[in-house]
Parts: sequence; C-alpha cells; structure tokens
Amino acid sequence: MKNNCDVIIIGAGIIGCCIAFELSKKGYRTLNIDFQPAAGAGSTSNSCGNVRFYYSTRDGVALAYESAWYWHNWRKYIGVRDDRGLAAYHNTGSIFIKNQAVDWPKVKANFDSLGVKYEDWDLATLQRKIPVADFHSFYPPRRPEDPEFLAPSGSWLEGACYTPESGYVGDPQLATQNVECAARAAGANFKFNRRVTAIRCDSRKVLGVTLDNDEPIDAPVIVNVSGPHSFKITEMAGLSESNNIKTRALRHEVHVVPPPEGYRPEEDGYHTNDADIGAYYRPEAGNMILTGSVDPACDPQDWVDPDNFDNQVSESQWKAQVYRLARRIPALPIPNKPSGIVDLYDVSDDWLPIYDRSDLGGFYQAIGSSGNQFKTAPVVGGMMAELIDKVQNGYDHDASPLQFKLPHLGHTIDMGAFHRNRKINRDSSFSVIG
Ligand SMILES: Cc1cc2nc3c(=O)[nH]c(=O)nc-3n(C[C@H](O)[C@H](O)[C@H](O)COP(=O)(O)OP(=O)(O)OC[C@H]3O[C@@H](n4cnc5c(N)ncnc54)[C@H](O)[C@@H]3O)c2cc1C
Repeated sequence: MKNNCDVIIIGAGIIGCCIAFELSKKGYRTLNIDFQPAAGAGSTSNSCGNVRFYYSTRDGVALAYESAWYWHNWRKYIGVRDDRGLAAYHNTGSIFIKNQAVDWPKVKANFDSLGVKYEDWDLATLQRKIPVADFHSFYPPRRPEDPEFLAPSGSWLEGACYTPESGYVGDPQLATQNVECAARAAGANFKFNRRVTAIRCDSRKVLGVTLDNDEPIDAPVIVNVSGPHSFKITEMAGLSESNNIKTRALRHEVHVVPPPEGYRPEEDGYHTNDADIGAYYRPEAGNMILTGSVDPACDPQDWVDPDNFDNQVSESQWKAQVYRLARRIPALPIPNKPSGIVDLYDVSDDWLPIYDRSDLGGFYQAIGSSGNQFKTAPVVGGMMAELIDKVQNGYDHDASPLQFKLPHLGHTIDMGAFHRNRKINRDSSFSVIG
C-alpha cells in the first residue's frame, strides 16, 4: 500500500488545525481526520476562548504570552481570505484577583522575567473599575448548600493584577475554521465525518490508520490531537502504559447570566479570574456574563467517557457557579432557568499538556490540554511542527529535549516541560489555571 500522505493528524480542533497549518508550511502533506462534520466542532467549539497569561509555571506563562501576538495579529497569521470572515479578538484586558489561593509573588516573578505587561491595581482601583462588584473576600469558595455559604465576610481583597493585552475569542470554532482555511491554502487536506478506529504499526513504528468505513490510510507520522478522546487514541496505539503522564476526560459546565441593570459587560467588562469565589467570568455576546469554575476543592470532579456523558447543564452546578458570582456581584439577576454549555477538558495528571513524541516511532502527541490551551494553539502548532520535523530527521528529543525559540518573544522553551515521562509537576495549580 502506498503512503497517502506524510502526516495523519487525528483531530481537527484548534490545536490539530494549527499543527496542520505549520507542518504544511514546512512542506509536509497532512491529513486531519475528524468524526465531527467540521473543523473545531469538538470541544473547541465550546471553549470560552479566554486569552490570559497567568499560569503557575514559567513555561505556561511563556506559551500564553507568546500567543497574544497571534490573537492581536489574527489576519496576518491566517494570511488568506476566509469567506466565513475572521474570528474577532475582544481585547478587554484581564483582571487577576489576588487572594490567598494565588501565589502572586511567583506569578509576578514570571511576568517580570518574560516581560509581560501588567498593572498592579489596589482595592480602590478595582472598585472604581467594576463598580457593580463587592470586593470583600469570600474565600474559600463554597457550594450553596454549605451553611456557611452566605456567611458575612469581614475582610477585603487586596487588589488585582491587570494585563491589558488579554481578552477572549468569542467564536472559537470560527477561529479554528480560519486556521483550516489557511492550512488548506498551504496544501493541507481534511476528512470529516470519519472516525479513526485502529492505528496500524509494526514493532517499531506506525504504518497508518483504519477508519470506521474500513478505509486504510497510510502515513509514516501520526499525531494524536484528539482532545478529550486522547486516552482512547493512546490506548489504540498500545501506549497506555508507556506515558508516565496520563490523560482523562473531565466534564465542565459554563453558565451565562444577564448583568445587573445599568451594567454593560460588552462595553465595560473585563475577563476576570477570581479564585476567591472559585470562578472566572467575562462578557458574552448579547451583553451577558459568562462564568465558569476554576475547580475549587468543594466542587465534585466528574470524570467521564467522552462518547457517553451528560451534556445538559445541571441545576446543582449552575446554582453553585451563579450563586458564587452573585456574591461578587450582589445585584446579579438570577434567572429562573439554568442556561449554559457542557463540554469536556482533556486533563493530564498535573493539568499541564503533553507536547511530545512517544515510544512508538512516528507517533506524536499534543494532548492533556487541561481546559486551558485554546489560546496557545498557534504557538503549539509551530512547536509541534518543529518537533516532528526534527525527530523525523533523527533528532533524539528524549536524550536532549528540543529547545523551541518563541518567534515573537524570543524566549526559549525547554520542551522537556511537556514531556510524556516528566515527573508530575508540583508547581502546577492542578486546576484549569494550568
Ligand atoms: C468548556 C471549556 C472552556 C474552555 N475555555 C478555555 C479558555 O477560556 N481558554 C483556553 O485557552 N482554553 C479553554 N479551553 C480549552 C481549549 O478549548 C482546549 O484546550 C482546546 O480547544 C483543545 O483543542 P484540541 O484541538 O486539542 O481538541 P478538540 O477541539 O477536542 O479536537 C479534538 C478532535 O478530535 C476528534 N476525534 C477524537 N477522537 C477521534 C477519532 N477516533 N477519530 C477522528 N476524530 C477524533 C474530535 O471529534 C475533536 O473534534 C476550554 C475548554 C472547554 C471544554
């Protein structure tokens, strides 16, 4: 059987498409295969698209801050006309509430060393910028059924860090389709509505995949970018025991509520990360407020089968997230019907991604994105393309992890930080913060 392409990419979410775009620019003939009907229709479609820079590791901050260039220069990055239009970047800036759950000196040290632009806001500035909010501390986050939930707070928050270049992409699927369009223009191919059901290999290396219609497609390189299905593809490749860091699918809810009367989030709102109430929130289309959880300890974790999970908003999680937000914004109107979305994170053991090769020749992995790698996808695309190119040409990444130079910041990332066999990184937040 002849090779049909140089690289099969399993998944056409934002990361899979960015890898296709970057590999195609290097001259590889790529084929993304996805069982969804369109690019970005998997978990990416329900991403909140937040672009913030505070991560708990320096590498995490570096990847996120490098990504700002792409979102601010989306037209330039895409480089071709997409008739569907270009995804808009809402440059609201981001507020990172300081409280005891947050190691601000560590974040500040990383920001300073990487040149991240930020402003230190005291309590008075916070109150002036968001007059609808009550900036008492409500820590620790609780669930509404906890008798202490409405306990009065005796202390005020210290203030916040504000990063003016942050914001959000309101239509993550359109952003993905823009990348698909750019990748096609660079020579990439896509196959939708088809599921990879087998990975064929000999004792050392991959040979190709088989699809759910029994069609075989051969290629010397396969990349697992299957999002919340990543552990299933890892298993299909016979590598479940071989990665030290494992991945699993975690169900996550995001809710949408109207703002208090007189407050216009789309004009006056910011993306905000508020560990004090266990939440993040930002403006949402239609002048609404979108809120998700930053995985506080009181919330149950719902590990699921990505092919069989409840995709309806649950009354109890909606109540938890919306009532917590109402502590911060006391005039928040509480609708009598829950609304929002449910989707899955592909969570790794330490909530940091795996961007690596594998123990099987030609098999690569961009998995474990842990609810926080939408923003970094264009950077990751470049990094993975360089890794694949180098390793296919004989580079021993396991002996000496690739040093990837971030094209716009100029800093170098040690890709060992994203190695499949790293020790669990205790610097991680072990949450969606990364
Ligand atoms: C609710 C939610 C909110 C989020 N908010 C943010 C945020 O604010 N900021 C941020 O940076 N990140 C955020 N994220 C994370 C971010 O969206 C993900 O990290 C990113 O979208 C992952 O992209 P991907 O391409 O790896 O995965 P996906 O988009 O999941 O793509 C994987 C694709 O693989 C396909 N696939 C799987 N198995 C197979 C198979 N056997 N055969 C063929 N195709 C297959 C799937 O159909 C899917 O389309 C959020 C995630 C969620 C779920």
